[in-house]
Amino acid sequence: MIAPNEMKLSNIKWHSGKIGKKDRWLKNSHKSALVWLTGLSASGKSTVAVELERMLFGLNVNTFVLDGDNVRHGLSRDLRFSPEDRSENLRRIGEVAKLMVEAGVLTIAAFISPYRRDRKNVRLLFQENEFIEVYLRCSIGICEQRDPKGFYRKARAGLIPEFTGISAPYEEPENPEIALDTGNMPVEAAVEKIYSYLMDRNIINASRQSRR
Ligand code: ADP
Repeated sequence: MIAPNEMKLSNIKWHSGKIGKKDRWLKNSHKSALVWLTGLSASGKSTVAVELERMLFGLNVNTFVLDGDNVRHGLSRDLRFSPEDRSENLRRIGEVAKLMVEAGVLTIAAFISPYRRDRKNVRLLFQENEFIEVYLRCSIGICEQRDPKGFYRKARAGLIPEFTGISAPYEEPENPEIALDTGNMPVEAAVEKIYSYLMDRNIINASRQSRR
């Protein structure tokens, strides 16, 4: 059997369809992009993602959340949390998100994604303006206090190895499109900031705002 990475890519051709991303944007009356939420566990990624999705859905925007825990049930269930596995996890997610953005979906990704290099590799899959890195800045102290899933407690007890912020690093974004201090701002304010950014960049337009 030939290993997948040994297969000759030259034998595989890209089939272009007759409907392009821009046709889908016209049909939807909004553009697509990837909103990439990054931050420590308990910084608020899932909470912000589902509230942003709810708001956009209410405005008739085609939107979908890719969430860390969900992806690890299926797409990446063979992977753990070593740096290599985290890279591979994010590579897969990046490719899935790219297909979703091609399909015209305003995609929201909620992943710790602790390494700069992995986030950059996802960014490189997208055109400028299509990848929106959102850093949910929240101190480890506050995240540990919140600990909604009890992960920090377990990590401190040595029950979860390679836990970001405790026994594995988190590399802060250097130039994120948006940085939000989710340690001391309400969820609604965080969602509103991302929404305003999408409006300012004309990804969604003013006619939708008037229907809020
Ligand atoms: P993550 O997905 O980053 O692990 P979660 O969204 O699961 O984090 O948990 C974050 C917790 O912090 C939730 O209990 C949420 O209600 C709370 N929280 C408080 N303020 C905020 C905020 N501004 N943004 C997001 N979550 C917040």
